[in-house]
Amino acid sequence: MALFQPEDYKHIVTTGSDNYQIMTRPNSHIPETSMKVKIAALLRGFARRCPACGGGRVFAGYISPEEECSSCNIPLSQYRSDDVPAYFTVFIVGHLCVPGVLILERMVSPAIWVQAAIWLPLTLILTLYLLPRIKGTVLALLWVLRIKG
Ligand SMILES: [Zn+2]
Repeated sequence: MALFQPEDYKHIVTTGSDNYQIMTRPNSHIPETSMKVKIAALLRGFARRCPACGGGRVFAGYISPEEECSSCNIPLSQYRSDDVPAYFTVFIVGHLCVPGVLILERMVSPAIWVQAAIWLPLTLILTLYLLPRIKGTVLALLWVLRIKG
């Protein structure tokens, strides 16, 4: 069973990069479910770009999804990631910062204010940087899997 049905392409205009061309040709010699297509969509999501065409922005603001892609008109707001991006962000940032605190404490044992001055801003910056990118990746994954919410 094909992951993408021909009716999935009716809203896509034919222009763009090679990956875009692959995704807009249902009868391409490259399988539609190929890992290359899926990874390209996830990378576009991480870049906060439309997973289908890579042209339009995924978010209207910081993490508010656009109603639809300004380039290819796929309905981005129908793919709802809920709390998953926040969970992944906490998981990643926690696994980067907590070992950092422990390693620094073990090696140098600095004053508490030094630890706080290093790790609190780093945690905040990493969280603010990663959250929209992870949300874009999750939206791209939902788009690849055709899971609308
Ligand atoms: Zn698009």
